Amino acid sequence: MKFEELPTPCYVIDEALLERNLQILNGVMQRTGCKIVLAQKAFSMSYYYPLIGEYLSGTTASGLFEARLGYEEMGKENHVFAPAYREDEIDEIISICDHIIFNSFSQLEKFKHKALQAGKKVGLRINPQCSTQVGHEIYDPCTPGSRFGALADDFRPELLEGVTGLHFHTLCQQNSDDLDTTLRAVEEKFAQWLPQMEWINFGGGHHITREDYDIPLLESCIKRMQENYGLKVYLEPGEAVALNAGYFVASVLDTHQNGMEIAILDTSATCHMPDVLEMPYRPPLFGSGEAGEKPFTYRLAGQTCLTGDVIGDYSFDEPLKCGDRLVFGDMAIYTMVKTTTFNGMPLPAIAVKEKNGDCKVVREFGYENFKTRLA
Ligand SMILES: *Cc1c(COP(=O)(O)O)cnc(C)c1O
Repeated sequence: MKFEELPTPCYVIDEALLERNLQILNGVMQRTGCKIVLAQKAFSMSYYYPLIGEYLSGTTASGLFEARLGYEEMGKENHVFAPAYREDEIDEIISICDHIIFNSFSQLEKFKHKALQAGKKVGLRINPQCSTQVGHEIYDPCTPGSRFGALADDFRPELLEGVTGLHFHTLCQQNSDDLDTTLRAVEEKFAQWLPQMEWINFGGGHHITREDYDIPLLESCIKRMQENYGLKVYLEPGEAVALNAGYFVASVLDTHQNGMEIAILDTSATCHMPDVLEMPYRPPLFGSGEAGEKPFTYRLAGQTCLTGDVIGDYSFDEPLKCGDRLVFGDMAIYTMVKTTTFNGMPLPAIAVKEKNGDCKVVREFGYENFKTRLA
């Protein structure tokens, strides 16, 4: 079907744009010999795991369910990190994952022997205490009081036996200059332990596929760790894999006035694009301008009862009318994975735009999906 014929609301992944991102990431792997795995929490669309697996080394997970998805649907290297593992899940996690990364020495003490016995790689997440994001505390694992990673001062060397890698994850939508800064903090604080390791995982948050990203600096960071310490380097970006590779299509249901023009859409910021409210950010909208820039300005709002269910104020060349379709950009990552059915909102359909431009709905949801996630 044509793009214009897709049902709304609908997420649409653009295969050509996804593949372009994968080629950029694969180029880094080819030139440096590092390994890049998909952080599934940003993008768990298993429909594309076979394609992603052609370019990347595998998957990483935040826990059992994502680990299982990566194992079953991509079947390549499977990594996992969780702040703490559950006793009743650890055996299954170990059975399907290759790298098990622990957040603390107490977790290592509790579970390390099981993972080693199963022949799996054991890693420790470290906290380099090097904040490179300002005013972004909820996305900064180095913020004071953060639960993430062992501090250099708390190292318990007697528990390091069998630990072959260190993992840090401190970035969020950042460029490689911040990676370089972080890496220098890692080298300074953990210098003593690096020589005995086999691998290091730089985590995610590298915006590698963004236009202004400095790839040569990333590659020099990777090479420095390879050459100075003989380490294998892993990266586990989520966002960068599907950055700008998806759209979200919604329709206008009604227009309304209250000191300004308001358009009510068949979607909801809180249910279908929660990062617009949480992050927060303003999603790009094709054919629109900032409020007041074009002749007709509207507040785009959702169907739920939440007054703050507002996507933002946008302007248009023509007045909006019932049935008009709006296409938001940058709607692949941290969207589909975060939807809710609050207010009984239906979940958006999921579609793909193939390389020849044809579109296809790959999943639709209904009442049962709302009902069965509650009791
Ligand atoms: C979130 C996360 C990632 C992926 O981060 P992006 O910002 O999506 O690239 C990778 N590793 C860990 C441990 C994470 O928590």
